[in-house]
Order: sequence, then structure tokens, then C-alpha cells
Amino acid sequence: MKAPNKIAHIGIAVRSLDQVLPFYTEQLGLTLLGTEEVASEQVRVAFLAIGESRIELLEPLSAESPIAKFMEKRGEGIHHIALDVDDVEARLATLKERGVPLIHEKPKDGAHHARIGFLHPKAANGVLYELCQYPQDADRTE
Ligand code: ZN
Repeated sequence: MKAPNKIAHIGIAVRSLDQVLPFYTEQLGLTLLGTEEVASEQVRVAFLAIGESRIELLEPLSAESPIAKFMEKRGEGIHHIALDVDDVEARLATLKERGVPLIHEKPKDGAHHARIGFLHPKAANGVLYELCQYPQDADRTE
């Protein structure tokens, strides 16, 4: 299997985007690319550019959000690592065939028109990995 292209982003669970954004922009000097609601995950996300990668801050929009549930158990902090891949659907199918535990067996819509799928954290010793495929013609600077 071809190696993923890069780390697309690191996802960090926060209670309030407004509260934490000044740290990222003023103390770390990162550029805020924008915020977006992802209905499928019940989250509001903010993306900050860091070289070719991003930091994705995730604020839950409801108690049913996976991010809210994560924070109930583990508090705020690093939530997932997203890998940029060219073939998310094929990869998920291959991983499923190989018996790797998945949260999503089929890709779904993520932020920035990406197609995404999460592996189950028990696949990687507690680390939650997201596979992320961007459309070929996407404006990646967005
Ligand atoms: Zn993500």
C-alpha cells in the first residue's frame, strides 16, 4: 500500500474555540484559515496553517458529538491524527479485509469537502487515526 502523503492535520478537542484561538494565533503565531461546522460530527472546527499541515481545533456543538464524549472521558487535548491519502475508500476496504478495526467502513464528508474515515483507536494502541482525501481540484490554501 502506498504511504500516505503527509500529516493532513492534528485534531485537538477544545471546549471553546473562542477561548483557545488567541493562544494559537498570538502565542504560536499561526494563521487562522477559517472555521466551519461539520454537521456529521456535530462540531465546529477551526483550521490553522502550519507548513503543509494544519492544526484542527474541534469544539462540540452538542452533548452527542463524539468530541463531547471524548472530553467527558479524557478532557481537552489531542484527539486524532489525520493522514492525507489519495484513495480513502480503497484503503478503508483493504483495512477492513485485513481485520483492522474501523469506526467508518465507508468514507463520509468532512471539513473542506474532504472524504474522511476514522480507524478505531484500538487499531493503533489508543491513537485515533483519520484518513482524509481532498478533491483533486480543491483549493488547499482555503
Ligand atoms: Zn480531523
